[in-house]
Amino acid sequence: TIKKEPQEASAAGLNRIKKVIAVMSGKGGVGKSTVTGLLAVSLKKQGYSVGIMDADITGPSIPRMFGINKRPENLEFGLMPAESSTGIRIMSLNLLLENEDDPVIWRGPLIGNAIQQFWNDVVWGDLDYLLVDLPPGTSDAPLTVMQSLPVDGLIVVSSPQELVGMVVKKAVKMANMMDIRVIGLIENYSYMVCPKCKEKIEVFGKSRGEEGAKEANVPYLGSLPIDYKLAKFCDEGRIEEYESTIFTDSRF
Ligand code: ADP
Repeated sequence: TIKKEPQEASAAGLNRIKKVIAVMSGKGGVGKSTVTGLLAVSLKKQGYSVGIMDADITGPSIPRMFGINKRPENLEFGLMPAESSTGIRIMSLNLLLENEDDPVIWRGPLIGNAIQQFWNDVVWGDLDYLLVDLPPGTSDAPLTVMQSLPVDGLIVVSSPQELVGMVVKKAVKMANMMDIRVIGLIENYSYMVCPKCKEKIEVFGKSRGEEGAKEANVPYLGSLPIDYKLAKFCDEGRIEEYESTIFTDSRF
């Protein structure tokens, strides 16, 4: 078992965070941040108070999909997270950089430090859910983040092109090492719907999510189609206007 080193939430002991859920993927580009965003939107719609910690330090994309570019206010007792139009609280390194497109070249310990500050020094306030968008992969960076935070559950995002079973098994191993529950698997890019005849087309081949989840003995939470509108809404900072049913039945 790897020791977790969560710190007391100090942004002035003002924070009361009920559940921390981390979202991970086997590699970049499978839609981990998009799924994190959609999950936040869904939980918010269900009436929960929600925050997103963008811990994908080297490729932070959360602020953009929520259309946020205001610098967080640095108050005496901590850093105020940005707030989306529906009231989702967001903290990302991107909001603290001078230029949004500045590259971040950091090694593990620095990433760990940044995440601890996102936990300790951000005034999250009362939250039902804090979602953590982890760095991609199952190696050092996401592990560092998970070690730095009191994560309650882990969601894995995969694409049909991956060896899903293997990615999920790695995630399960990581989660077990830290005594974290794997909430389940979501497959992104599973299919697309033909705009003319409405037929479902499995662009990347047969969906493997359900089978991969079963193999690794974790729940299958559902699949997300390739949708031009979703990409467009994310690009335009309007993810909160996107209608998705993927999370409406799920309980976390
Ligand atoms: P990751 O966090 O895994 O690197 P992102 O969530 O940033 O991936 O997604 C990568 C790109 O793909 C983004 O431009 C996003 O808008 C787009 N995208 C993700 N999921 C979908 C989808 N289901 N349909 C269409 N575009 C998507």
